[in-house]
Amino acid sequence: MARLSDRMVGLGTARSEIREAFAFAQARAAIVGPENVDDFSIGNPSVPAPDSVADAIRQLVDEVDPVALHGYTPAQGAPDVRQTLADQLNACYGTSYTGDNLYLTVGAAAALCCCLSAMGCQGDEFITFAPYFPEYKVFVESAGGKLVAVPADIEDFQIDFAAFEAALNPNTKAVLINTPNNPTGVVYSQATIQKLAQVLEEKSREYGHTIYLISDEPYREIVYAQEPLPWVPSYYANTLVCYSYSKSLSLPGQRIGYVLVPSEVEDFGLVYAAIAGAGRALGYVCAPTLFQLVAAKCAGQTADISIYKRNRDILLDALREMGYTCAQPDGAFYLFPRTLEPDAKAFCERAKKYDLVLVPGDSFGCPGHVRISYCVPTEQIQRALVKFKKLAEEYGL
Ligand code: PLP
Repeated sequence: MARLSDRMVGLGTARSEIREAFAFAQARAAIVGPENVDDFSIGNPSVPAPDSVADAIRQLVDEVDPVALHGYTPAQGAPDVRQTLADQLNACYGTSYTGDNLYLTVGAAAALCCCLSAMGCQGDEFITFAPYFPEYKVFVESAGGKLVAVPADIEDFQIDFAAFEAALNPNTKAVLINTPNNPTGVVYSQATIQKLAQVLEEKSREYGHTIYLISDEPYREIVYAQEPLPWVPSYYANTLVCYSYSKSLSLPGQRIGYVLVPSEVEDFGLVYAAIAGAGRALGYVCAPTLFQLVAAKCAGQTADISIYKRNRDILLDALREMGYTCAQPDGAFYLFPRTLEPDAKAFCERAKKYDLVLVPGDSFGCPGHVRISYCVPTEQIQRALVKFKKLAEEYGL
């Protein structure tokens, strides 16, 4: 009989509700045909990577010595790649980062795990805001910490500061935010980030230790409002940014991203060393060399985000017209409307009758809502409207 970690067996066997919904959609598609199933379960970018990605790959394969192209880089990533990515951030945000502020990783997931493991000591609490990316719990617990979820302000999904202050305590090691947000699509306003920074400064002083802010930003470029997205480290010095090219360049399978540790972070050298140490301990060293180089060549570009905006506009307008309530989603590619009955799972079961596949908000720590991933072909959105309408009619709307 194998003697294994019960926790890991549990994680490896439990299927998330997102995966369950996706599996249901696949199974139904095999029976009734994919054109009859409207699957909104998964956040896999539907817009292809820009042509510049394929051009960069071709050029790299043609021009770079294959031993170097497929070889190891330093654990934290190639120095020239890190410098190029730092330069690109500086051009966008008026900062003065260098390659020494970046640790390249396999996507935002690994970036988060490195930050959390770098900080997590027994008894530490990491606060996040519901609804939140379900993997946060797994990542935080793997780092030896406890995830504390502050209940959502369901009016606009900005931060409920009274609830946040009630959750803060001397064991709080860091606060984890995600804007633009999965699953709500909501973008934190400048006022929210300012207030958050102010509270963290006050509480860090009061508790006599730094409370870090971990800003998970894989959707940073996917924004539809006019106002520029607030650059979080310029509001709060002790911010670590976790980023990936999974969504902005539509490269989720290539696993490339980074942790940014600005020099302004207290004890910068130690924090960076701890991130590198966590990368080493977790085996997240030397992110894929080819895609480090592709990221450097394509930094600052994005896939065609206008397609997501078109999808959002069609779906959001139609759902509101039908009577659904949905907070303003100005980024990412998700809507998070309220369900038409309190039990989101029951609502999703009803939707399944129409082969309309949604994910209950319970999975994200926020019952009474569903996540709709609209990174799908626009024709699917148009086709699904009649199903959303029939569903609404079942509830008397
Ligand atoms: N954080 C959030 C909020 C996400 O939605 C995702 C992926 O969907 C990740 C992190 C992980 O991203 P990556 O594919 O870059 O590891």
